[in-house]
Amino acid sequence: ARGRSDTQNADRNSTLKDGKGNVIVSVRVRPDVGAKDSKQELEWEVNNKQSLIAYKGREGGDYYYDNVFDTQDNNARVYDGAAKRLVRRVMEGYHGTVFAYGMTGTGKTFSMQGTATNPGVIPLAITDIFSYIRETPHREFLLRVSYLEIYNEKIHDLLAGPIVGMNGQPAAQEEIKLREDSKRGVHATPLNEEIVQSPTQLLRVIARGDNARRVAGTQFNARSSRSHAVVQIVVESRERGASGSLKDSKRSAIAPGGVRVSTLSLIDLAGSEKAAENKERRTEGSHINKSLLTLGTVIGRLSSDKDKAASDKDKASKEKHLPYRDSKLTRLLQPALSGNSLVSILCTIQIGASGSIAAANSHTGETLNTLKFASRAKNNIVSHAKKAEESVGAAGDPGSRALLDRYRIEIQ
Ligand code: ADP
Ligand code: MG
Repeated sequence: ARGRSDTQNADRNSTLKDGKGNVIVSVRVRPDVGAKDSKQELEWEVNNKQSLIAYKGREGGDYYYDNVFDTQDNNARVYDGAAKRLVRRVMEGYHGTVFAYGMTGTGKTFSMQGTATNPGVIPLAITDIFSYIRETPHREFLLRVSYLEIYNEKIHDLLAGPIVGMNGQPAAQEEIKLREDSKRGVHATPLNEEIVQSPTQLLRVIARGDNARRVAGTQFNARSSRSHAVVQIVVESRERGASGSLKDSKRSAIAPGGVRVSTLSLIDLAGSEKAAENKERRTEGSHINKSLLTLGTVIGRLSSDKDKAASDKDKASKEKHLPYRDSKLTRLLQPALSGNSLVSILCTIQIGASGSIAAANSHTGETLNTLKFASRAKNNIVSHAKKAEESVGAAGDPGSRALLDRYRIEIQ
């Protein structure tokens, strides 16, 4: 096992260097709380913390990933392995997406949000974003954040107040549509985007979004397992003027290279389990399955004949035919999945189940589905990240995505 793992790491390091290794697929195993000796119930076992997990049973074979996080690994370790490098690349001008995939209860939200003592990917990314800004005094930055939820194929703005009223009915909110234009690409509108200047402020905005979801009260768990939560942080930056001061920087003093606009998307996906049988649930579930199913299809097809589509042009034309438009999720994630972005997929699973063989077995199929999804993603996404840089002129255009010229807010 060790030999195989070393080879994998060597491969990964070399692809990172030449810029092709833009997809990281990780599996995180949730601790089985309460289980004393659940060895016999395990269907999978983490053999090696870097790269491999073994499936013991019907379908046989081992599954290999970039990271396999064991039950002892905390969120900081998960972040370091699955997201840190991607966040840094976003600061350098690439689009990046981290998403958590797995059945309900396996630790998606735990991994993304974490707790006060064990902060997750989102707060750790925020810390790194501001560290990067401090360490990069020769560039000026503008950050803004949005937070939306996709539920039943409808988009809700979590920064626009509660999304569910006290009566359990949806709160009145302007319908949010996905639009596409050449300057901004695919984007949700109307959607609040808040400009933020400090980690505290950014965390506070996201907490507000979390609260808007939580207002659903007793329905929260059901809803959160069926909805996709999407935090997007837009990072703009450019070289400072010669004086190094933002106030003094005139258009003419702007260094060549223009404004970089990149987006970090942090996505807590709906539970990947199948919808329950009753009718209401099936309606909700069918939407979610549609989004997750389409995500799977897109990932599968992106690459099914990747060897044949050798040139960038071939790839671009193939991407045109992928069913991004079949679901809100894939449409919104289109830039992230069309090879112009860095992607990290964190698949959460639980192996064994608190001393209950029956419970463990009932999860087996779903866990296998998650592992297969992860494998497919690993083999199939061929990403060629490009810097998302606009010309200096474009930044001043009213329709432009870049806001740096219109807002003068210096991040300390
Ligand atoms: P999901 O979002 O996938 O439905 P949660 O993140 O809500 O699952 O996790 C379900 C429960 O398990 C929560 O109480 C969470 O605190 C706990 N949990 C999940 N993963 C871990 C972990 N790695 N370590 C400790 N507790 C965890
Ligand atoms: Mg959750």
